Amino acid sequence: MVEIELENITKTYGKNLALKDISFVIKDKEYFIILGPTGAGKTTLLKIIAGLERPDSGKVLFDGKDVTAKSPGERNLGFMFENYALFPHMNLVENVAYSGRVHARDKEMTKTLVDQVLMMTLLTGRDDALPEELSGGMKQRVALCRALMNLEQTRLLILDEPLKALDAGLRMNLREELLLMAKSKQLELTVVHVTNEEQEAMMVADRIALMNQGEIIQIGTPHEIYYVPKDLFVANFLSEINYFEGICIKNETPLWDIHQKSVQKDKFYAEIHEGSSPMLLDLGFDSQFAACVKNDVFEQINHGEKILLVVRANHMKLRLGDRLIDKRNGFIGKILRRKFMGVFYRFEVSIKVKEKEKKVIVTIPATTEIHEKFLEDSEVTIYFPIELGMVFKYPGEQTIQDILKLE
Ligand code: ATP
Repeated sequence: MVEIELENITKTYGKNLALKDISFVIKDKEYFIILGPTGAGKTTLLKIIAGLERPDSGKVLFDGKDVTAKSPGERNLGFMFENYALFPHMNLVENVAYSGRVHARDKEMTKTLVDQVLMMTLLTGRDDALPEELSGGMKQRVALCRALMNLEQTRLLILDEPLKALDAGLRMNLREELLLMAKSKQLELTVVHVTNEEQEAMMVADRIALMNQGEIIQIGTPHEIYYVPKDLFVANFLSEINYFEGICIKNETPLWDIHQKSVQKDKFYAEIHEGSSPMLLDLGFDSQFAACVKNDVFEQINHGEKILLVVRANHMKLRLGDRLIDKRNGFIGKILRRKFMGVFYRFEVSIKVKEKEKKVIVTIPATTEIHEKFLEDSEVTIYFPIELGMVFKYPGEQTIQDILKLE
């Protein structure tokens, strides 16, 4: 239970600017995720919050009090960093119990707590194992157990990729456990959790801060980050995307009712649509396209200006044959490749834009019909609901290449 405020934090290592003037607030009792690619500065930021690193400039405030110069011990927090730092000469139970000893609990109480955290992390039964005898995932769980040992005296839990080396099933369970624990009435923790996995972020976060190259690019709820990404970097970080270059059209009457579905028929789409206006787009096809744009962005983009339209692969719809007559925002294409991915199929579809071939990725839940009928070489119609098209001011060829790492 603590509100954390970061004010103009800057950190350099030699010539390397790891954090550039970072300011934001983590609210009391919030499960806050710091997400970003490798080297973004996530761990550095976390260490500054924990007191393991000092910023070059800027302040860290806990509940309004300046703690910038305070040690981790004085900040009253539990933390787990990526390098597990287990004591090599202590066995599993001793490693976990150590932090109980530090906080001067009686033996009985420590044992109960150790048993609880070991059970939660499925480590029961390996009491005597030394760190060198444990797998990477087990060591990680022991380190997590140590961070969890002091929670009743802790107001803040700091986790650096706590679930990284674990297999999928265990990772899923532990995510749920962490969330339940953080939100339990007895603890009501503030949690700051670093990850580079977007699924993990989506599942546990109240809010996510997405970082890149030492900067915070966007902070928002998982829903905001997913449906209203600030730019191409954010959109691309969260799932596979398709992008199209186009022109904004503001001086034509739409040839189809671009307001209809969202407002009247579908509550979910209507929610995404809130505070947005549909923008007509020329993508270089014969037909008109449209996508919803947040009102402030709509105002900033002028008629005739170049834009980038982004549609997530899982927001594209796929139908067999030519269905353009009854599907708006659609393209005709041919399935080049399809790949069974377990719960979904991933299709690479070739379409033509101004006589040039373009590849569009579509992912859809795997069903018997998809398996039997949507075969390679089939002609298909791809289309997308206007609410799920994301429009950005054109960021320039080089930026697109850099973000999407195109050759
Ligand atoms: P990852 O996901 O790979 O852990 P990250 O987002 O946590 O990455 P940081 O570890 O915070 O990123 O590193 C940010 C930048 O600062 C990187 O360029 C890194 O090389 C540099 N850096 C971090 N720690 C040090 C250090 N002790 N000495 C020198 N450079 C450092």
